[in-house]
Amino acid sequence: MPIKKTTERVNINNRRVINGADADVVQLHPMKHTFAWDAYNAGNANHWLPTEIIMQNDIEQWRAANVLSDDERHAFKTVLGFFTTADSIAANNIVLAVYRHMTSPECRMYLLRQGYEEAIHTHAYQYIVESLGLDGGEIFNMYREVEAIYNKATFILSFNEGIFNPQFKTGTFENDQKFLENIIIFSLVMEGIFFYSSFAVIFGFHRQHKMVGSAEQIQYIMRDESQHLNFGINLVNTIKEEQPELWTPEFQQHVIDLVKEGTELEIEFATSVFPKGIFGMNAESFREYIQHIADRRLARVGLPAQYNSPNPFPWMSEAVDLNKEKNFFETRVIEYQSGTLDW
Ligand code: FE
Repeated sequence: MPIKKTTERVNINNRRVINGADADVVQLHPMKHTFAWDAYNAGNANHWLPTEIIMQNDIEQWRAANVLSDDERHAFKTVLGFFTTADSIAANNIVLAVYRHMTSPECRMYLLRQGYEEAIHTHAYQYIVESLGLDGGEIFNMYREVEAIYNKATFILSFNEGIFNPQFKTGTFENDQKFLENIIIFSLVMEGIFFYSSFAVIFGFHRQHKMVGSAEQIQYIMRDESQHLNFGINLVNTIKEEQPELWTPEFQQHVIDLVKEGTELEIEFATSVFPKGIFGMNAESFREYIQHIADRRLARVGLPAQYNSPNPFPWMSEAVDLNKEKNFFETRVIEYQSGTLDW
């Protein structure tokens, strides 16, 4: 689209997450959606790379005959199988669907950062696979082989269909709701629910002092993911403010139904992958935990609790509040090429 030559300044009050003025898209200032800028800065402050984490202990434990049980090996590989493709699905949604419809440059700034973080996460999984000498073809294909992972992936991917279409445009009631639905599914369900029983399993390993390098990788991923979730929730709530007509009672019920469907898929995943439970987490506690976090996600967008289940894994919230410096102190390899540049 040609640029209109003018001294007329962008009016911040016209800036919108979607359906804003064309001139807004490349002008970071004046900034309206400061939550996106804050998220961008937080992402930079939390920067990490998978190769900074020492994997030697994990390699020895994985090779040893007497450290991990068969159930633990199966659980470890299956959650890794879920993770390996999940972040690529999330990255594709950002880059191929969400980004081009956003008319807030500060939101676009954060999406660029978020897209890179999804790549770092996929890198982390490949680094674990490579370090432990696992069969990458097997692990990365699990989303097509393991029924419960396949069901989650298929559910998520079905929300790409409309907005991946090159002809798709926001600006109509129906399409704006479709876009909002996509953001809700990817943040509340994908980043907010689908990762969480796998996170819990990995921290189960950590609590047993098993596979701590892998667990540390996943801890950094979880911190990033909670930021992605926060950003997604801010997007949803801002679109609600900017276009309140989209948030109809029918649409609210639709969101509740989708979150409940996602919750059931996650419960099915946890109970089918760990039928005997693992590290003291049984089917019932997984169900309660997933329902508990689903209610929390709904509350963040102003929707009523559906389950009122207790939180059987209170230690999970501690795992999110990780202090990078303290945690890295013992295990991190400092290998940034900082200091003088040699020309
Ligand atoms: Fe993410």
